[in-house]
Amino acid sequence: MVALLRVLGQPLPVLNAQGPSAKVWRPWRALPTEVQDAPMRSVEADAACVEQRLLAGDYACPVCEGELRPWGFARWRIVGRGAKSVRLRPRRSRCKACRLTHVLLPVACLLRRCDLAEMVGRGLALKVAGWGYRRIAASLGIPSSTVGDRGRRFEKLAGYLRAWFTALLYFLDPSFGAIDQRDNPLADALEAIVLAAGAAARAFGPAPLWNFASGASSGRLLANTNPSLPPAFLARR
Ligand SMILES: [Zn+2]
Repeated sequence: MVALLRVLGQPLPVLNAQGPSAKVWRPWRALPTEVQDAPMRSVEADAACVEQRLLAGDYACPVCEGELRPWGFARWRIVGRGAKSVRLRPRRSRCKACRLTHVLLPVACLLRRCDLAEMVGRGLALKVAGWGYRRIAASLGIPSSTVGDRGRRFEKLAGYLRAWFTALLYFLDPSFGAIDQRDNPLADALEAIVLAAGAAARAFGPAPLWNFASGASSGRLLANTNPSLPPAFLARR
């Protein structure tokens, strides 16, 4: 339970945006993903860094791995609540090769979720710890219906998330030992996320846990459809 308890305290530092050179596949930066009706690609949280990398041609197209070029902006949006809310306007990009456009979604966000990834993740961790929806809602200051929706989504996806983040863990650290299974699928899923984040942190340096989880799932941690894997990952598995 060590890993789980650490999640409930301060978010684990995992991975940062300062990585090795461009065009190497880096899961915390985000798996590029194409979502039906919402083509997007996850990028790091720092807007200035995103701008710089976009101009430098560092981002690859999620569909064909061609070079993404600047292509205006998506709409302004407010993510998070109260004093912790953030107003942001994600960049749009267009692929030089296939001409498709993609919104660049910062890893601090999750696709189609109005709260920051950190807030969503805290709610999930509290659920794993056995808290009820009302108590989580009161603690985080969000509606209990929202907490319930996310909790049920997490329950539905737990097996998939566990498999995905476990695969990522061994991809990042092939020498990692066996993981003991618990009798709780949600705890297994959360542990896989934490362990994968730890492996990424050992390899590349610290970054917030739930930003990692967002980036590694292309912002689709709780989405209705699973991330589509980029060709680079499939080739390297
Ligand atoms: Zn393309």
